[in-house]
Amino acid sequence: MKESEYQKPLPTISSLNRPYWDGLRRRELRLQKCVGCGLTWYPPAPLCPGCWSRKFVWTQLSGRGRISSWVVFHQAYFRSYEADIPYNVVEVELDEGPRVLANLLGANSEIRYGMPVEIVFDDVTEEVTLARFKPRTV
Ligand SMILES: [Zn+2]
Repeated sequence: MKESEYQKPLPTISSLNRPYWDGLRRRELRLQKCVGCGLTWYPPAPLCPGCWSRKFVWTQLSGRGRISSWVVFHQAYFRSYEADIPYNVVEVELDEGPRVLANLLGANSEIRYGMPVEIVFDDVTEEVTLARFKPRTV
């Protein structure tokens, strides 16, 4: 879809978070991992939130995790989401530790705490691929 056709909010891509967005376009979930203490974190930040080290590497994650919280929106706070009501926003605790906010494909009524999920790459524009999730069996 061309950017002009996609009406929902888009991320601001900066030098700090570009490896994350470039990774999603390549079907890879990449986050920063601290060389000093081993912590992996989200969202992208210039230093480790665990030990404040500036030494990190962008590492590829499994894209697997479990639902740790969620909400279902019944009111459209953005006009571009009106057709999606009711829609969910889930918090996924990734197997590697970080928690990310995303949308879960499937029925809102089937969302459960601890539900195993895996990443889905959604190309919303030529430049932007979003991370969404879907249920997985194991
Ligand atoms: Zn650290």
